Amino acid sequence: MSSDSQHNKNFRIDDSPVDVDAIKQAVRTILTAVGEDPDRPGLLETPRRVAHMYAEMFSGLHLNPERHLEVTFPETYDEMVLVRDIRFTSMCEHHLLPFTGVAHVAYIPDGKVTGLSKLARVVEEVSRRPQVQERMTQTIADLVDQRLNTAGVGCVISAEHSCMSIRGIRKAGSTTVTSALRGIFKTDHATRTEFMSLVNGQR
Ligand code: ZN
Repeated sequence: MSSDSQHNKNFRIDDSPVDVDAIKQAVRTILTAVGEDPDRPGLLETPRRVAHMYAEMFSGLHLNPERHLEVTFPETYDEMVLVRDIRFTSMCEHHLLPFTGVAHVAYIPDGKVTGLSKLARVVEEVSRRPQVQERMTQTIADLVDQRLNTAGVGCVISAEHSCMSIRGIRKAGSTTVTSALRGIFKTDHATRTEFMSLVNGQR
């Protein structure tokens, strides 16, 4: 199951604690402020659509991704586990424009493992917040590090930021890469090198 369909399946506007009416009002205000007529037919439903979109894009604010890591299985496996190319879309908190890319999450178990899809769920939920990529990377690494009792954790995120590609400097196609390393990934050169070569390896 892709992370996109996973999310669409889980999100329900009726369950959302987001103040939809307040967003609709705000979108009408913005449309008027830029010189539009929010009452012309093409724009009548726009405030509602935007409010629902924001409720979905920011749904992670009301969820605790730690819960996905509560169920673990005792295992003696003590080599690296890497889930690569977890696709996500998040929102840059400086411009409220999306940034889209992939996250790679690795850990070395210390007595217990989690289900592989749980790492993808953590990325998905953390992505649904206004944030910067740097903090998103650290948040994911810290969650896995703290909840799984690991020997070490690595998270690398590579993403394209639409605030860089469609406005301002207008550099389409450039990607931003961030990494967060914990435990043995930070202290042991060989582990770090293995992680980076697996992340950058053949696809
Ligand atoms: Zn931005």
